[in-house]
Amino acid sequence: MKIPSTADYQCILVCPFCKGENLHIIEASIHRGDDIVTVTRNCVSVKEKKNEERGVIIMLEYEGECGHHGQIIFHFYKGNTFVHYHPLAKISDENGMLHYSEKGDIFRD
Ligand SMILES: [Zn+2]
Repeated sequence: MKIPSTADYQCILVCPFCKGENLHIIEASIHRGDDIVTVTRNCVSVKEKKNEERGVIIMLEYEGECGHHGQIIFHFYKGNTFVHYHPLAKISDENGMLHYSEKGDIFRD
């Protein structure tokens, strides 16, 4: 994944599964060495937890209007930042209706 280096360039984060463009970020967390800082709509928390991985991990959990739900994970290790996708249970039912979690967007105007 390469992001253009021009200062005025802006791109859209898309669903890694289907490339849907309307993602709602419902949780962000940073896993440091000995703790995890988590931000949701209702709180900011710090939980002590030993990081089993080496390096920092930044995780964005989203629910997409495409019906997908997942985590986009940036893992910094030995000078590289790896990008992973972890799918979670879909939020759309068999009729295509969306069932967003109670977490809600971290912030939305
Ligand atoms: Zn999707």
